[in-house]
This record gives sequence, C-alpha cells and structure tokens, in this order.
Amino acid sequence: MTRGTGGTTRAVWALVLLAAVGTLTLAPTLARALARTLDIYFIDVEGGQSTLIVTPSGESLLIDTGFPGDGTFASKPGNPAQARDPQRILAAARDAGITRIDYLLLTHFHADHDGGVVELAQLLPIGTFIDHAPPFAAAEVGVPGTLAMYDAYAALRATGRHLQPAVGDRLPLKGVDVTVVASEGKTLRTPLAPAGAANSACVGTGVPAQDSIENTRSTGVRLSYGQFRFLDVGDLSGAPLFALTCPRNLVGEADVYLVAHHGGSDASDSATYRAVNPRVAIVNNGARKGGAAETLATLARFASIETWQLHRSEAPGAENVADARLANRDETTHAWIKLSAQDDGSFTVTNGRTGAVTRYPRRK
Ligand SMILES: [Zn+2]
Repeated sequence: MTRGTGGTTRAVWALVLLAAVGTLTLAPTLARALARTLDIYFIDVEGGQSTLIVTPSGESLLIDTGFPGDGTFASKPGNPAQARDPQRILAAARDAGITRIDYLLLTHFHADHDGGVVELAQLLPIGTFIDHAPPFAAAEVGVPGTLAMYDAYAALRATGRHLQPAVGDRLPLKGVDVTVVASEGKTLRTPLAPAGAANSACVGTGVPAQDSIENTRSTGVRLSYGQFRFLDVGDLSGAPLFALTCPRNLVGEADVYLVAHHGGSDASDSATYRAVNPRVAIVNNGARKGGAAETLATLARFASIETWQLHRSEAPGAENVADARLANRDETTHAWIKLSAQDDGSFTVTNGRTGAVTRYPRRK
C-alpha cells in the first residue's frame, strides 16, 4: 500500500465511520424522510383490520385498530400492555419510526375495526380522529357490544380533533392524495379521473352484503402517491361496493387493493377486481375469519393479480395462496405484510414472517 492510497483508505474509512455514526444518530423521522417511500403495514389482527400508512414525509394514517383486549368481539378494553392488537400496532409504529398517529380513520363501528382504539390511545398519541356518523341502534343486533364500544370511542375522540369527511373529500395529509370514495352507504357519483369506463363484468346487482347495517356504511379511501394507487374500502359490501365499479368504474384502477371485508364471500364479485385491476390484492383474513373459498377462487382466476394473505384460511374449500405470499401459516405467528411504494408506481412487498421481499416494477 502506498502512502497516497493509505491516505485515500483513511479518508474512505472516515466516511464509512461518519456514515455509521450518522445512521445511528439520525432521528427515525429523518431516516424516513431520506428513505422517501410510502410504507403500508398490513398488521395481523386475526381477521380484523389495522393498516398503518406512513407517508414519505413521515405523517401517519392508521386505518382501524383491530380488536380490544384479548382479541374477540366479546373482549373489553383493559390493560394496554396486554392488549393483543394495540401492541401489534405499536410494534409496527416502532418499526416505521413513528411515535404518534397523526390521523386515525375508523372505517366503521365494529369491534374488529374500532375495538383496539381505547387501549391504543394509551400507547400512542392520536392527533385527528376520522369516522362517519354514529352507528344505528340496529347495529347492536348484528354485533352485540357495538354501541358501548362506540360510546367509549366517542369519549376518547372528544379529546382530539375530529373529522367526518363526505364522499369525494380529501383527507389533509401532505404529499399524498387520500380521497374518500365511500361513507355512510354513499359512494362516488363522479369518477376519480381517469376512471369512469363501463365495466362489462357487472352482473345484476352484485353479491348481497352479509351485514347491511354497518359494513355497508364503511368509509373507504383511495390513496395516490405519484403514480402509485392503493384502495382500502374497509368492510364495504353489497350495493355500495357494487356501485363503486358497476355499471361504470368510478374508483379507477389501483396497484394494490386491500380486499373488502377480509375476503369474505361478499367480496367475491369478479366485477370489482376487473375494474380495480390490482397488481397485488391483500386479504386481511384470520385463520377462521374472512378468506372465503369463493373470493380466493375469484382472485385466482385473474392471472394478472398476485394475492397475498395475512393468514392461511381454514374456510371450507379455501385454496390458499403460495406459502411465499402467506404471512401466517397458523395462529402461532403474527407477522405483518409490509409494502413500500415509490412515486413512479413501483413497490415492494415484504413477508414479515420470512423477510423475503418481492419487487413489483412500475406498471407499463
Ligand atoms: Zn371487519
């Protein structure tokens, strides 16, 4: 080694050291800003919904909070340190480098979506609460406990900012466009550009909703980041889900679609998938909740769609996706699916169980 290259080597090592120290001391939010991806964590809440979105500028939008307590419809909020789903959300938040939820959207008032909110608020500060009008008394019949859970949530919500957006409104996040496409049973009346084409796959009035009281009032959003599109409609089903894509495709295409209602049988209408035309469909099913055979079969018929499941479905007759696209084979693990998107529309999907990363180049 000559004197000259020794100097160069020392300079290189100094840079490596600086970079290492810099990496260690960078605030998570700054590290995120440098990464400049839109990250979406599909958190395993055993067949409920909790989806954490962190924008390139570090703002967070959490869509739903999973179940309360030990994770059933009958569970009550308790000690947040032992709350199954809020703890899983906290783990995802830490992985994403965020310390607060800037915006919480509750798609609708069922315990598999709003149940975790009271405990979560004790683990992470929540800035703005976004929802729709209160549940009807009839919601209590289909899902007992709905009204008490709503009352607990409403008391918590009174401590923060509150938004009840109408269909067509944009949520106030920066650098991304989050537009409400459905809420309180209403849906888009004018197409999101460049949507609006007639959908030849529409048949009759679609598939009836399993629950037409509260699921059908789900607040759904379409998120755009540059060329990238993501659609999450909660448990929207029946007439309003049908109306989004039939007879015309008002909601447009999306790169990634979180399949409605955990992939239950009322999400099996192929007209939805024909219109949304996702490259990746994610099913947030549990082992014994959602992931219906009809819906997985519909998805499998689309060669252009790669389906990922949060869980292997034990539903009768269910043909599950390949192991590589299955986050959890059973209830002994609770891995998430993590998506990172670039503004050119390309994205990666990481299987939290295996760590394997699948790359999806920008759409041609
Ligand atoms: Zn649900």
